[in-house]
Amino acid sequence: MSAVLDVSEQRRVEELSRASQERLQATARLATVGEMASLLSHELNQPLAAIASYATGSMNLLHEATLTDPQLATSLNDAMQRIGQQAERAGKVIKSVHDFVRRRDQSRVDVAPRTLLDNVMPLVALQARKLGVRVELRCATGLPHVLCDRTMVEQVLLNLSRNGMQAMQDDTPYKTLTLLVRTVPPTTGQQWMEFVVADQGHGIAEELTEKLFTPFFTTKEEGMGLGLSLCRTVVEQHGGLLQHGPNQPRGTVFSFTLPQT
Ligand code: ADP
Repeated sequence: MSAVLDVSEQRRVEELSRASQERLQATARLATVGEMASLLSHELNQPLAAIASYATGSMNLLHEATLTDPQLATSLNDAMQRIGQQAERAGKVIKSVHDFVRRRDQSRVDVAPRTLLDNVMPLVALQARKLGVRVELRCATGLPHVLCDRTMVEQVLLNLSRNGMQAMQDDTPYKTLTLLVRTVPPTTGQQWMEFVVADQGHGIAEELTEKLFTPFFTTKEEGMGLGLSLCRTVVEQHGGLLQHGPNQPRGTVFSFTLPQT
């Protein structure tokens, strides 16, 4: 009897030490991503403000041109407006990353999964058109809502979608990106929703899986290597889990969980 007790005590200590080790690693990851996020937000705010103000200035000039060629002026006006809106969105993203990293003003809201997808679809569709990818959405109506920092989770969806589409750039025969939301079968306590982003691209070689989440690790010529590390930090900050595995017959499936409200 006493031998049994000894072993379980040892297991408990091992479990505790493993848990605290994991917490330490998560904090270290957050610190690295945090430093980079602060640097980026500092560097990017100025050019973004300049873009927004050039867009406004150009719209004012266009207003005068309306008299000579109204049709052209309208199209240009629309384009300028979109430039302004995207610059504004980028500004919001930066602010959100900044707040997120500093853990203050974490604006977690109750939101329908479909709304998150709808918000990222314009940007996903734009890139999909450019890269010849078909996007399939599978999100039933009436799914339970999630509690999350909206802008940050939208960034996670955007990053995973962009990676999936870029992975289908070679001679991939079928270029479909699937975005899917489903309920995780309930266990005990907190209930979860799962977001899945599946591609049919070149997949991830076994030897790369260790490095994927390391900041600045990239296999792309123009990659920054920050996307996945930020995605994991965001998901873990919500208490969720980011996972990946092979898709069938080819490609990769990334998925993450968020708490239901
Ligand atoms: P970046 O996209 O700037 O390279 P990420 O951190 O988002 O940075 O991704 C790191 C690396 O992980 C990519 O360069 C790529 O090699 C690999 N990767 C990420 N997503 C996928 C995917 N869906 N399929 C294949 N490889 C991927």
